[in-house]
Amino acid sequence: MAAVQVERTAGTQCFEAAVEKMRDGVQAMAAWIGGADGEALGDGLIQLRESGIDPLEAVFASGVRRFDKSGEFAADGAVSVVAWLKWKCKLSGGAAAERVEIARQLEQLPKTEAAFASGDIGYQHVALMARTAEHVGAAAVRRAEPGLLQAAQTMDPGQFTGVAKNFEHRIDAEGALNEANRAHARRYLHLSEPQNGTVRIDGLLDAEGGATLRSALEPFMTPMKNDDRSFGQRQHDALIELCRQRGGDKRDGAGRRPQLIIRASLDTLAGLPGAPAGELEGGGTVPAATVQRHACDSALSRLIGRGELEHELSHATRTIPPSTRRALEARDRHCVFEGCDRRPSWCDGHHLVWWTRGGPTTLANLGLLCRPHHRMVHEEGWTLERKDGRFKAIPPPKRVTPNSRTG
Ligand SMILES: [Zn+2]
Ligand SMILES: [Zn+2]
Repeated sequence: MAAVQVERTAGTQCFEAAVEKMRDGVQAMAAWIGGADGEALGDGLIQLRESGIDPLEAVFASGVRRFDKSGEFAADGAVSVVAWLKWKCKLSGGAAAERVEIARQLEQLPKTEAAFASGDIGYQHVALMARTAEHVGAAAVRRAEPGLLQAAQTMDPGQFTGVAKNFEHRIDAEGALNEANRAHARRYLHLSEPQNGTVRIDGLLDAEGGATLRSALEPFMTPMKNDDRSFGQRQHDALIELCRQRGGDKRDGAGRRPQLIIRASLDTLAGLPGAPAGELEGGGTVPAATVQRHACDSALSRLIGRGELEHELSHATRTIPPSTRRALEARDRHCVFEGCDRRPSWCDGHHLVWWTRGGPTTLANLGLLCRPHHRMVHEEGWTLERKDGRFKAIPPPKRVTPNSRTG
């Protein structure tokens, strides 16, 4: 009994010494990183992963493997090693399951385990190797291990995913097809009901759908001059522009199904105080300024009047006739906002004296404005003027930004 006691104490001391050394190492590295900058900081970050985080993950994996086999997690009352990792090591279910999978597969992939321990490949590469082994069997991966590891060392995880998937397909085309079919079956797209002026969109696209959408958005993603939209905002605008332009190059408004139907009253259109909001067919409301923008160019939307407006709309000529639109495009050639060169297909025909204020639909009273700039004029207080054939955009007296509008 006494001998066992001594051994345990010795083990504990050794454990405590190891923990202390690790803490010292972390502190030393934190101090060094804190004082480094420029190229040296970059080198430090690389070392942090290669000599610290990734080799430690390798140590963690080999420990998890033995802990998993021992069944010791049950002593704490956990039903599985994954549950134990979630609980005791503060990992999400997905992160815990991935580490257990790595731990199990690495036992049969010694070269991968060694490359992981030495920091030659990163955690995500190893996770991909483990997943590939899970899909096609560790034996098949082991036979191709040197080539796969070489690819992993020279590629980022995204590129390496392509190599791994290609390998899986060569080994097990049917399995790869099944996986693609499972992924396809998980596809969905959900649009929420409008809430606080926004509609939430979420979903999962299959790989083919994702690639199709990405390449369709790309032509609309080019930033404008002095573009202060975030990447996400540009992606949003690109998706809407894509939807607006569907149906080819016909943009004279004739014969096209309107993509947006707005119901509004005359008071709203005139922007009178106390007027109700515009109602979107399909749910949601828009402010008067947005109704007025759509009243400006009806190529993509249709206004449905309430009360007196119904009569007004049926007698109005706010629709830009095809010949006027062609003349407008020939004259302006692109959005007339200074520095903006968006093509006519991206532009609305803006009435300089707003149609809602009696401005006529004639070439002299029109100017091409791309959708973001048209919005700035109607909803954010900018003014567009034309003097001696030159357009001038005048900012609002007090700039209305999306942030300052709240509160
Ligand atoms: Zn307008
Ligand atoms: Zn523009």
